[in-house]
Amino acid sequence: MTTPKVILKPSRAKPFFGRHPWVFAGAVERVDGSPADGAEVDLVSHGDNFVARGLFNSLSKIQVRLYSWDQGVSLDRAFFRDRLDRAVRLRHDVLKLNAPDAGYRVAFSESDFLSGMVVDRYGDWLAVQFTALGLANRRDEIAEVLREVLQPRGIYLRTEKGVGKLEGVEQHDGPLWGEPPPADLAIVENGLRVLVNLAEGQKTGYYLDQRDNRAAVARLCPGKRVLDAFCYTGGFGLYAAKAGAAEVLGIDASEPALELARRNAAANDLSGISFETADVFRHLADLVAVRRQFDVVVLDPPKFARNRAAVPEALKGYRRLHQLALKLLAKDGVLVSCCCTGLITLQDLEDIIAQAAVEGRRDLQILERRGPAADHPVAATCRESGYLKCVVSRVL
Ligand code: SAH
Repeated sequence: MTTPKVILKPSRAKPFFGRHPWVFAGAVERVDGSPADGAEVDLVSHGDNFVARGLFNSLSKIQVRLYSWDQGVSLDRAFFRDRLDRAVRLRHDVLKLNAPDAGYRVAFSESDFLSGMVVDRYGDWLAVQFTALGLANRRDEIAEVLREVLQPRGIYLRTEKGVGKLEGVEQHDGPLWGEPPPADLAIVENGLRVLVNLAEGQKTGYYLDQRDNRAAVARLCPGKRVLDAFCYTGGFGLYAAKAGAAEVLGIDASEPALELARRNAAANDLSGISFETADVFRHLADLVAVRRQFDVVVLDPPKFARNRAAVPEALKGYRRLHQLALKLLAKDGVLVSCCCTGLITLQDLEDIIAQAAVEGRRDLQILERRGPAADHPVAATCRESGYLKCVVSRVL
């Protein structure tokens, strides 16, 4: 049986020879051999030269996701096993993240040459997210491979809003294999015990990407008054309290997240830390009104824009947050500006920080430009997978 072919329009093959994994419908001239959605296809240039092997989906704007640039490689179980082995080797052999009660990202979609799949490990449980129909259709095979490679007690499927429509795949959250995760599932991160609600928490339950940034910021917190805006289940604030902050205030709009945050503080015997359920924009304005001051302010808002049209409004949101934060920062204060909106660049973020400093009539120095922890790498050939920026500055 010959593999169906997706033939590119003239002069459209360059990005794919450059190993970018997304073939949008607009680049495709025609499809030969009527592949089913999710089936393996060969991507070929207009001149019929093999480019790469991928999985087809007529229902998605990304008509083909590419996985291998070797001709004749089939995208079978052995292939996915090899891809996951590579991903696991980074986390275990290079980064040494594999303690029994650790939390880390096992596989990160394009960044691990597995476009459309995220796997996070929380102790003995795995959370899996599919954002591509081709991989979602292979979920049982992939679960088997994950069992071989990581021997979890359970694998739980988490779905992302909107993916069903984008990819034409119907999925529901629930156990994919094994035992469901316990209600008190906890990981240990840099010596802190953190409860993770894998089944119902945001994303797959926890923001693993901020691990190193939390530790970096904690070093600046001993003896300080710390404001952790958008704290989720405690995040930066727990680290600050453990590092010996004089006082920590965490703010988030999610009551379930704050319930875990309070339990996390108790589980780690932390004192001087409190949490407020509130809209950050409103609450920061209230704190400004009563002239509260902090020595460290962390801003870690959610993604503000999913598409280009939403970027101007998102920039306004970041600007407002920075204006407020500068008013709350005491002399020689530390500002931590996180931005996980991929469409907003480091340059944009630094422009916002600089503008807020000028408006606030403060001198500001950038101390560190940070990204996500290394279990969230960026594939050199798909730079779009870099999304998280974390700029640490000193405000005089
Ligand atoms: N800093 C956290 C991760 C933050 S994720 C950590 O280290 O784990 C972003 C958080 O912002 C989510 O918890 C979400 O509930 C919260 N959020 C979103 N919009 C908000 C708003 N307007 N006011 C307060 N919290 C908000």
